[in-house]
Amino acid sequence: MTAESHRSKRTVLISGASIAGHALAYWLHRYGFAVTIVEKASAPRDGGYPIDVRGTAIEVAGRMGILPRLRDAHVDSQRITFLDADGGEVASVPPHTLAGSVEGRDLEVRRGDLTAALHAAVRDDVEFLFDDSIDTLDQTSDGVDVAFRNGGRRTFDLVVGADGMHSHTRRLLFGPEGPFHRHLGYRFAVFTMPNAFGLARELVMWNAPGRAAALYATGGKDDELHAFLNFHRPEPPLARDPDSQADLVAEAFADAGWEVPTIIEAMRGADDLFCDTVGQIRMPTWSSGRIALVGDAAYAPSFLTGQGSSLALVGAYMLAHSLAANPNHTEAFTAYERTTRPFVDANQALIDHGTAALFPTTARALNQRNASLRHLVTLPAPTPRPAYSALTLPPFPNP
Ligand SMILES: Cc1cc2nc3c(=O)[nH]c(=O)nc-3n(C[C@H](O)[C@H](O)[C@H](O)COP(=O)(O)OP(=O)(O)OC[C@H]3O[C@@H](n4cnc5c(N)ncnc54)[C@H](O)[C@@H]3O)c2cc1C
Repeated sequence: MTAESHRSKRTVLISGASIAGHALAYWLHRYGFAVTIVEKASAPRDGGYPIDVRGTAIEVAGRMGILPRLRDAHVDSQRITFLDADGGEVASVPPHTLAGSVEGRDLEVRRGDLTAALHAAVRDDVEFLFDDSIDTLDQTSDGVDVAFRNGGRRTFDLVVGADGMHSHTRRLLFGPEGPFHRHLGYRFAVFTMPNAFGLARELVMWNAPGRAAALYATGGKDDELHAFLNFHRPEPPLARDPDSQADLVAEAFADAGWEVPTIIEAMRGADDLFCDTVGQIRMPTWSSGRIALVGDAAYAPSFLTGQGSSLALVGAYMLAHSLAANPNHTEAFTAYERTTRPFVDANQALIDHGTAALFPTTARALNQRNASLRHLVTLPAPTPRPAYSALTLPPFPNP
């Protein structure tokens, strides 16, 4: 793209080069916007835990032309095996019977594979500023003056925060996260570890009341495992530094059985440990002036719904569609909320309809869950959850 053509188009700065940021960039570029993405990391993040893409989000991926690549990357887990506190098998079920996914249509891919597919779709058309982030935002009637951490200054017509659950853009625009964060009562840790268990394309989950340890094999027996530790904590702890977080996790699993001590040991040595609280972002509005939010930054649903990536893809499509269909950004942002909020609400509400049931906090609830899992083995696959497809995508307007 020439500097001349960049100047004559409407300019948008997107903060965050992950799922929402890349998808939004793709659709805004298709409609003739000049798009810049600023990302604090030095490259799009690869690797990562497996995520689901379902329902309406599959339609977005299809319209972007990335479905064949995602189908190649499909993890295709064969089973989920649930273990009791002593490591005995409770039940082993096909994954789609739990998630309500449509076998053969919905996808499960490593997060890095999705990001790589999205990046490949836009990398030649969009300006990337890696290793940088927004320092300050100053809105005027003509645009948004942006100062970057690396010292640069530029003005854009619009700015969109796609910088995740703990969004920096949201903080600059609306203040601290507290009022928008709905704590769901758990904390978790994810990291990779050697596959000492011979697992292949499967998930094994150990449960005790209020605690779960899962090993996820997205590849074969020689590939590393994604370890996941989840534990009940009604109040979010204040500690944020990695050492104290690892201590907190180790403490929560101190007397756990099965292979949990091996997993905790691996966590201590992991170089990719990520810990966080389990929560949702719920905001009364997703924009202010010329600045809007998309994906987890605006409406993180939490991994308990398995819908974060799907909301990011669909939200990005709908925001770009609204900007394309409305010449005025104020009307566009209003249209984005009006059309997308019911879909977001339906998916965030999955948490109130039993998706946390995989992580029971009492012995009684765990026994009930185990009984239904045993029952599930003999039942036909359930129909997909309506929330996954609760939005019909509008056609993209012709530029
Ligand atoms: C353990 C776990 C399991 C999950 N499982 C699923 C699942 O099964 N299905 C599903 O759909 N979702 C799942 N999710 C959620 C999913 O990963 C997120 O919902 C999704 O990645 C949101 O995409 P996003 O682009 O909005 O934000 P993110 O993927 O969080 O991306 C934010 C981007 O912004 C960048 N950034 C942050 N701050 C700045 C800054 N100041 N300046 C510049 N850049 C910045 C980050 O580096 C990152 O690239 C899971 C999440 C976790 C943690």
